[in-house]
Amino acid sequence: MSHIDEFESDLHRTALSQLDRVAVRLGLEPDIHVRLRAPRRALVVSIPVRMDSGRTEVFTGYRVHHSTVLGPTKGGLRYDADVSLGEVTALAMLMSWKCALMGLPYGGAKGGVRCNPRAMSLAERENLTRRYTAEIILMIGPDLDIPAPDLGTDEQTMAWMMDTYSMTQGKSVPGVVTGKPLIVGGSAGRREATGRGIVYCLYQAAHHMSQELRGKTVVIQGFGNVGAVAARLLWRDGAVVTGVSDVKGAIWSPKGLDIRQLEAHVAETGSVVGFPGADPLDNAAILEQPCDILIPAAVGSQIHAGNADRIRAHVVAEGANGPTTPEADGILHDRGVTVIPDILCNAGGVVVSYFEWVQGLQYYFWKESEITARLQEVMTRAFNRVWGLGRKEGVDLRTAALMEGVRRVAEGYKVRGLYP
Ligand code: NAD
Repeated sequence: MSHIDEFESDLHRTALSQLDRVAVRLGLEPDIHVRLRAPRRALVVSIPVRMDSGRTEVFTGYRVHHSTVLGPTKGGLRYDADVSLGEVTALAMLMSWKCALMGLPYGGAKGGVRCNPRAMSLAERENLTRRYTAEIILMIGPDLDIPAPDLGTDEQTMAWMMDTYSMTQGKSVPGVVTGKPLIVGGSAGRREATGRGIVYCLYQAAHHMSQELRGKTVVIQGFGNVGAVAARLLWRDGAVVTGVSDVKGAIWSPKGLDIRQLEAHVAETGSVVGFPGADPLDNAAILEQPCDILIPAAVGSQIHAGNADRIRAHVVAEGANGPTTPEADGILHDRGVTVIPDILCNAGGVVVSYFEWVQGLQYYFWKESEITARLQEVMTRAFNRVWGLGRKEGVDLRTAALMEGVRRVAEGYKVRGLYP
């Protein structure tokens, strides 16, 4: 019989190989391992959208629930030209490990629409979002699956999703999405949460390495929700951000960039390119500049077998999901580069999403200082657990983080058993 793999993609292959490796280390029962490899359910939808030109275009969208064993599912919605069923499925799997690792009562999910949001008007993006929401409506709900922003989507996208869902229920249902604007039940601190979580991880890493963050040089790929916030917080705390890139190009300044001025430049021009006083650089070269900390905060598979031996950072803090391929992981490990893995490093977003969901369900909202303090506590605890496990087992931080996340999900399957 021929083998058909409907999830065929680089990221899915990577996610499965990571799981398989960890399953051996954990001594997972084969009956549970085989269930963890497959998503619980996946929906493919066609999304017809009336474009500004008057013509109708049909986009393809996905929503995947990987595991529902620890609670409702949670995961972002991505608008990108490279979105595929395999990529979304892999990202849903990573969300299962991430939520379990952070101790959140969620399974993993992910959604995506294959499109180029930058080439679409606001009205076209609204039509796309509303029709996509309507098409996946059976898959989402406050105690079923709760989407959040990801690459190419933002608070506005979440407001449209919440409104569309609410219209079908005849009442406001803020708990159906997180990452919403504050006025309709968003949480203080959600926008900064992922970037802030990265910074907490870096503080812990510096602490364990008996070093200080102040004065460290930092290069960041991607200047969106994640990269720009990490840049601002690190710069404010005395780190020197020497290089930044976005989809249009990269800039480099050995003496350090003024991040507040850079944010103003991006708000005005839409890109980091052309920032006065910085040298232009090409997008691939920025990753290979000398620095203490490299933060990939854009898209997947950016550090690969072809460039891993030229990465000159001491620490790679993964803001993006899946930015390092398994081959590159091995090369970086052999060269003594510490990689803080995505499922730990960028988990601040889902942690504060959880806080937003809890606040929304209780109709009682916390102060930003309270949220930040709780986020710091959750991130620090998870980081130290992963660091300690890594030391104890003699493995890198990615393996340790996956071991902890996968072990918890597997335990859920074990105690719940197999229906029927
Ligand atoms: P975003 O759309 O706000 O920003 C993405 C940034 O990356 C933009 O500056 C874009 O120009 C840049 N970019 C895209 N392709 C690039 C390329 N090939 N080279 C250089 N730059 C490129 O997205 P975001 O929310 O900041 O997400 C970034 C990454 O972080 C994604 O991988 C996402 O899955 C991950 N992530 C996001 C969150 C969150 O809370 N937003 C949480 C966890 C993980």
